[in-house]
Amino acid sequence: MKSNKFNLPDNNGFFGEFGGKFVPETLMYALEELENTYNELKDREDFQKEFYSDLSNFVGRPSPLYFAERLSNHYGSGSIWLKREDLNHTGAHKINNTVGQILLAKHMGKKRIIAETGAGQHGVATATVAARLGLECHIYMGAEDVKRQSLNVYRIKLLGAEVHAVDSGTATLKDALNEALRDWVTNVDDTYYIIGSVTGPHPYPMIVRDFNSVVGQELIHQSKDSFNSMPDAIVACVGGGSNAMGIFYPFIDIPETRLIGVEAGGNGISTGEHAAPLNDGTPGVLHGARSYLMQDESGQIMDTKSVSAGLDYPGVGPEHSWLKDIGRAEYVAVNDDEALKAFHEVTELEGIMPALETAHAFAYLGPLMKELPDTANVVVNVSGRGDKDINTVAEIDGIKF
Ligand SMILES: *Cc1c(COP(=O)(O)O)cnc(C)c1O
Repeated sequence: MKSNKFNLPDNNGFFGEFGGKFVPETLMYALEELENTYNELKDREDFQKEFYSDLSNFVGRPSPLYFAERLSNHYGSGSIWLKREDLNHTGAHKINNTVGQILLAKHMGKKRIIAETGAGQHGVATATVAARLGLECHIYMGAEDVKRQSLNVYRIKLLGAEVHAVDSGTATLKDALNEALRDWVTNVDDTYYIIGSVTGPHPYPMIVRDFNSVVGQELIHQSKDSFNSMPDAIVACVGGGSNAMGIFYPFIDIPETRLIGVEAGGNGISTGEHAAPLNDGTPGVLHGARSYLMQDESGQIMDTKSVSAGLDYPGVGPEHSWLKDIGRAEYVAVNDDEALKAFHEVTELEGIMPALETAHAFAYLGPLMKELPDTANVVVNVSGRGDKDINTVAEIDGIKF
């Protein structure tokens, strides 16, 4: 896996002051075992061959870079290109990481797979790769999300995995993550925990970033082929931050490309009802790493609000916190209503129905295209397809089946 001039995280898992391994002692051995296995395998030719062969034959990579002509005309200036992660097997970028991590599990001889999930996409991606290798699989999901994403819950069950609904806290992603960590502490000997974003303790943020960075690597070549330069800007939505990190990472050393992460503004940043820790949070420790968080004065995690289950998380990957503080990436937020408007707009103009998460990235094109010259090439990372969100959108539009 290629790195850039910063070569982070450091040996302790830090990106500047963010990251680390804030976990119970019982997990330290498991994290070290994982880190050692990964470091040993990642540059080995047979491992790379296995990983890239799965990405092409099972996932369907490379994903196209597609010119969005009607959307570009709609904004009246600049060219908008879509990196089509929605066309991957299972419909989102998450499969890139699970295909990689299940290979690590296989090499470590683990027989039991666990994962947390929010929107259900990571649960589906994990159950998919576990089914392919015939491994026992348990998915932790907030009870609230089980209700919101019933289609994905059923998909996970069809794939032979067990879904555990988590009732604690707000019964969303952060609670599912807590429960998955608890399972891992108890069953660490035979269990591999596939984390679904660039979050959690070291080495996860690094591993998930590296496996997803195939997206940015492809984009470098595709940009040369399609418009003979590097993009002027890349726009990606940020929940935990894995689709954004995957497309940003190979561009960190390419200063002419602006990197723009879009968080979930929920009801609006000023209302406090959102899921935008990089826009309106403070540094603290959650789920094993130090990063920007939504927390109150005493350090209690605050409730989040987003129309999109996949962005509804009070934390963010530590590398994004670092990129924000050094000024290499910009982080903005768009509200639920703006994301919904963009969902309809892109569907009608392009015949591509984006996930509600992805719709946040699209919604930022309005302000962005206004500030850029007509020659600008902007790439939107289409992190996933919107089929899973049709019930949510229908309910908001007042449609009953
Ligand atoms: C899970 C998900 C996200 C958010 O996760 P990141 O780790 O921030 O990428 C975004 N888009 C889609 C389609 C998802 O399924």
